[in-house]
Amino acid sequence: MPELPEVETVRRGLEQKLNNFIIKKVEVCRDSTVAFPLNKEEFIKGLLNSLIYKWDRRGKYLIAQLKEVQNENAQYLEANSKNNGFLVVHLRMTGYFKFIENSSHPCKHTRIRFFDKNNNELRYIDVRSFGQMWWINKDLSLNKIIKGLGSLGPEPFSKDFDANYLKKVISKRTKSIKAILLDQTIVAGIGNIYADESLYSAGISPFREARTIKKNELIKLKESIVTVLKKSIGSGGTTFSDFRDLDGENGNFGLQTNVYRRTGKECHKCGNLIEKQKITGRSTHWCPKCQK
Ligand SMILES: [Zn+2]
Repeated sequence: MPELPEVETVRRGLEQKLNNFIIKKVEVCRDSTVAFPLNKEEFIKGLLNSLIYKWDRRGKYLIAQLKEVQNENAQYLEANSKNNGFLVVHLRMTGYFKFIENSSHPCKHTRIRFFDKNNNELRYIDVRSFGQMWWINKDLSLNKIIKGLGSLGPEPFSKDFDANYLKKVISKRTKSIKAILLDQTIVAGIGNIYADESLYSAGISPFREARTIKKNELIKLKESIVTVLKKSIGSGGTTFSDFRDLDGENGNFGLQTNVYRRTGKECHKCGNLIEKQKITGRSTHWCPKCQK
């Protein structure tokens, strides 16, 4: 599943590729990809003539700010346009975007297609089809309609996410620290890969009861999370094996994982073998010697 670094990589790609992209046509190839409004015609109609003005990310959600274009030939499009709400996307397991100049025949996993007047296409492809899109008009509240977005914890890079915050939220939690890191209401954007890698880097066992983790360990954990995520963003969200960027490339270069999917291989620090076990249904990789 794409995690924060992959979604951030997609966001940057969208920002780069979609220069003054005004939606002139929308084709919904699979109705269930549209999460809101429930009527897909309303979704399509709402998006037409929208300038995709800015892409933001919150946790694993991509959020496009839309402007309603009144005069396409105006010199400063955004200044001449009214707010037209948001297009929100969650890629879930296998969703990805592809930007295609001079649109071509879509593959069978294509779910939604956006076109501009020059027939450039922003195509959303999703093999397993768990991904979702919302068009939220300007009078509605994003956080109320998209529950998962409204309940997100702080961004790992924000000032709100520090050792004091962690100490406070986990002080009574008997769950494992791994399960805590996967909980999007505690911290936004971390999934299985980066939870395992951050815990390794901080030297903390994923099985530790969250409340037993000391302040100095939490300081280290916070630093590890930020470092691991930043490193991955820097190399284009590389650790996710099925991940594709906007050119349809698998960005799997550069960054190596220390524990994730390295079961039975030697730990880079101590030479001990990396182990794997499930925690709340998720495969967890760790070094029993380096992580206590
Ligand atoms: Zn080790």
